[in-house]
Formats: sequence, structure tokens, C-alpha cells
Amino acid sequence: MPENIKKIIIGNMKMNGSKEFNESLFSDLKHNLSAINNLDIVLCVPYPYLYQAQNILAKSNLFWGSHGAFTGEVSASMLKEFGSQFVIVGHSERSTAYCESDENIAEKFNIVKKFNMTPILCVGETHIEREAGIMESVVSSQLETIINLYGKSILNNSIIAYEPIWAIGSDHAATSEQIQKMCSFIKKLVNKVSPANLKSLKVIYGGSVNSKNALQLCSLESVDGALIGRASLDENEFSNICQQVQRIL
Ligand code: PEP
Repeated sequence: MPENIKKIIIGNMKMNGSKEFNESLFSDLKHNLSAINNLDIVLCVPYPYLYQAQNILAKSNLFWGSHGAFTGEVSASMLKEFGSQFVIVGHSERSTAYCESDENIAEKFNIVKKFNMTPILCVGETHIEREAGIMESVVSSQLETIINLYGKSILNNSIIAYEPIWAIGSDHAATSEQIQKMCSFIKKLVNKVSPANLKSLKVIYGGSVNSKNALQLCSLESVDGALIGRASLDENEFSNICQQVQRIL
């Protein structure tokens, strides 16, 4: 896990790409981002392209990872074999489509840790839950499920992505105030459970981040970076975001 003082930008390619598309995306990102050394950059690619990512991105300053699925799909050991260092778990697009419970997500989180990879845990509320004002209890119960099952130190060397479900793919990012409030709530909760974990934990924001709002959102005091969906598929847009965010100290 990289040092905590650096911000982190994570691209989530979701179910996008092709061999030809990725060849140019990976090579362009490797070239555009080669001079960046005070920002951690991760690209989460679909499973079939892990080998391609490993080939093109090896010896670059980009880490690569994937989504965690496991039994019947792809195991943590397979991800590790392809050099993955980061694994997204609990993304709402998966938990909704595959009915993953908080317990299922906690189990995946734990397996990723066992294989010495860094889990990127997505937490966040639906629009209805925000309207009802229960967003903090939704997020704390997502985190507490993991802590209760696997112990107080489970959240060390991890990334928690606050991804309000209503902001993903919507072109309406959460406001700076909403993001600051929730990310600081998450850090306080972790600090209460185990202050030592906070040192190696990053809390980032995801949901309609682009080159126009990334700098502002990543500059928020409690925000350590961003998880980026659509904008990670455009090499200029993603590079632009990384170049802006690397200037934040
Ligand atoms: C995501 O799917 O994790 C995401 C943040 O998507 P987008 O940036 O496209 O809203």
C-alpha cells in the first residue's frame, strides 16, 4: 500500500474496452502520466484484460486492479497472479445486480486482504436513503459489518470509496459539503474503532468526477482522492484529472 500522504486517483473501466481500445488507452496513459510521482494512480480493468494491462503497464507508475467476484467467477489468487494490487469490492452496480449483501462484501474484502492486495471498498446510500436522512447510518452499518466479522484491524491498508449511488453515472456529483461531511464521518468512525488503522487508510469520493470538478473535490480536507468511472475511459480526461490532482499537497 502506498504512503498515505499521497492522493490517489482510481479509474474504474467497468465492462468497457476491447483489445484495440485498451492498447491505445493503456499506452497513452502510461506515456501521459510517466512524469507523475506524487500521486498514486490505479486502473481497474475487466478480468479478460488483466494480462494486457500487466504487459503494457508493467514498469509504469500505474497500478492495476479489478473488481472482486470470486467463487464461480474469478478468485483473489487469479487476480494476484496477474499482478493486481487493488480490487474494487462492494460496487453498487454489482451489489444491486447480484444481490450482494453487506456480509458477502465483507467476505470479499477479507479475502482480498488475505492475498495482500488493497481492497477498494465502495460504500454509499441510495437517493431514497439520503432523502430520509439516514445516509450516515447506512454507511456505518456497511463498515461495521466488516469490522464485526473480521476485527478492529481489518480496515488497515485499505481504501474506502464514498460512492453515493445517486451520483454514479448521473452527471451530478455530490456537493463538496456532502462529500466532506461523509468522508470525515467515515474517518471519525474508523478512528474510534482503531486509531492505528486511520494512518494506512484512504477515504476517497466517487460519482460523476471529471476534469472540471476533480480538483475541487480532491482538495477537500477529508478526501484522499477519487474513484472515476466514465472519465477513466478517455485518456485525455483521465490524464488531465491526474495532472490537476498531483498539484495538491
Ligand atoms: C463508478 O462507477 O464507480 C463511478 C464513479 O462512475 P462515474 O464516474 O461514471 O459516475
